[in-house]
Amino acid sequence: MIAIYPGSFDPPTLGHIDIIHRAMGIATTLIVAVAINPAKSLMFSPDERVEMLAAICKGMPNVQVTQFSGLLVDFARAQGAKAIIRGLRAVSDFEYEFQMALANRLMDDSIETLFISTNAQYSCLSSSLVKEIAKLGGDPSAMVHKIVLNKMLQKSAGL
Ligand code: ADP
Repeated sequence: MIAIYPGSFDPPTLGHIDIIHRAMGIATTLIVAVAINPAKSLMFSPDERVEMLAAICKGMPNVQVTQFSGLLVDFARAQGAKAIIRGLRAVSDFEYEFQMALANRLMDDSIETLFISTNAQYSCLSSSLVKEIAKLGGDPSAMVHKIVLNKMLQKSAGL
């Protein structure tokens, strides 16, 4: 089964990576798909986000990293995917995720949304929290992969 794990990944956190590890165990091919969403104000470009994820997922044989724009169901269909993977951290994620899953099902009933619950250790993590901590001069090294940490340090140094 081909599965898509879509998201903003701005930047990827250890929570995202945990979901990738879990999803790669149930999919034959897992496509991690960086959403290009010009409406959101983001720290990293789509290319930078793909680059970080590709470096992190190097050595995971059934994981591919790419980017997409437009409707997720259109992208999923074009990839031949049968499932969309989403991570759940807390009940607060549920309402939005459930609404998206049902809307996607209305558009394409052949693609199933699968929810994977986070490792409890990472349930507090979000990309925005990581960015906020870094902005205030904190150390997010327990929250992101070292590849992401280095990229964030480069960004804040204006490199
Ligand atoms: P989006 O803008 O699509 O919500 P995100 O990068 O914020 O993109 O999240 C992508 C997916 O990863 C979502 O399903 C989200 O719930 C999940 N996710 C985000 N952070 C974590 C975490 N710490 N643990 C598990 N899942 C997470």
